[in-house]
Amino acid sequence: MHHFHYHKRELYAEEVPVARIVEEVGTPVYIYSAATLRRHFRVFREAFSGIPHLLCYSVKANSNLAVLALLAREGSGADIVSGGELYRALRAGIPPEKIVFSGVGKTEKEMEEALSAGILMFNVESLGELEALSRVARRLGRKAPLAIRVNPDVDPRTHPYISTGLKKNKFGLPEGLAFQAYLRAKEDPYLEPVGVDCHIGSQLTEISPFVEALRRLKTLYLRLREEGLPLRYLDLGGGLGIVYGEEEPPPPREYAEALLREMRDLPETTLILEPGRVIAGNAGILVTRVLYVKHHPPTEENPEGRTFVIVDAGMNDLIRPTLYQAYHRIQPIRETLEGETLVADVVGPICESGDFLARERRLPAVRPGELLAVMSAGAYGFVMSSNYNSRPRAAEVLVDGARFFVVRKRETYEDLVRLEEIPEF
Ligand SMILES: *Cc1c(COP(=O)(O)O)cnc(C)c1O
Repeated sequence: MHHFHYHKRELYAEEVPVARIVEEVGTPVYIYSAATLRRHFRVFREAFSGIPHLLCYSVKANSNLAVLALLAREGSGADIVSGGELYRALRAGIPPEKIVFSGVGKTEKEMEEALSAGILMFNVESLGELEALSRVARRLGRKAPLAIRVNPDVDPRTHPYISTGLKKNKFGLPEGLAFQAYLRAKEDPYLEPVGVDCHIGSQLTEISPFVEALRRLKTLYLRLREEGLPLRYLDLGGGLGIVYGEEEPPPPREYAEALLREMRDLPETTLILEPGRVIAGNAGILVTRVLYVKHHPPTEENPEGRTFVIVDAGMNDLIRPTLYQAYHRIQPIRETLEGETLVADVVGPICESGDFLARERRLPAVRPGELLAVMSAGAYGFVMSSNYNSRPRAAEVLVDGARFFVVRKRETYEDLVRLEEIPEF
């Protein structure tokens, strides 16, 4: 579900023609829909309304302050993975008592910042980190609330780079070690175990791995309660998939129903979820302009030859296609019905063969100057962008009904070198 649609053959973001935004802001540009973000969050919230729960939006999916502020107003908490994300979440008005801090490599400085801010809990991923957290808490003279991130060894059946809950992945602790860590934390006056946590991966299109992971969490949770640990949170992480192309992920309501069934015998427990992609993914598009169309003549391998649509957005703007072999729909801003088509690689200006947005894609016969929308680019899009090839990062725009706001200006050349200095050799 999203609010990007054609009206009189022209692509709109809510009530604003995409072409009008481009006229003002240029390309490449990320465009987010406020109505879509709100709707996604509300559907999720409704689905879990039957039990005590906390939705901690995963900031890394899309960390623009405007997006975070919008979600804060909807009542969202935050799942953060760095001091920078803590800073953003607080700046955007997300209350610290709704923030959980995940990640395998938290520094003591980051822990200090989060503990001073008064976050809900740290999701601790190793014994070393547990020791570090205890040191930090002692220094600050406060107790650090925590969950141990368990690696439940459940196969999420997704892309290997976004699988995180398998034994071979770097995340969390296996159940046995996690149990030991809890007993250790229980004895420490500066540590306060309050929950059990996991996150098994991203872009999952089935419910069963979530249910499996929740069952394993529950087993450990109940064992720990028997040991006298006053736990009250079960954090199942994020990971629910979205439609990019032909996938059929379960709707949030079905996902919630399956989890609610598992939570029935734990009425005193708050279920924490950390949705990222499912909130932001389909709430954003990347708009790019066609620069050139070129055709390479046939070869033995390629009897048809090969056509390249060269656009002004590259892998530095959207790395998902080349990093995860991710599929994004690509649509023209002006809809052409039944017209001529071509099959082409849609590529960017970066000097890398991995610089593509789509391969062997059937498109309308686009011409230089035309605009294309790369769909479902609201999550893991701009946040993963870089300045590679000294390309200023794209602008970000938030549409809300008939209005639109530039929520991050396009970077300038001056921005590119702002922190650099030529020494007196
Ligand atoms: C990335 C991440 C999420 C969000 O994952 P999505 O697939 O975007 O929902 C949640 N929790 C943790 C710990 C993560 O690293």
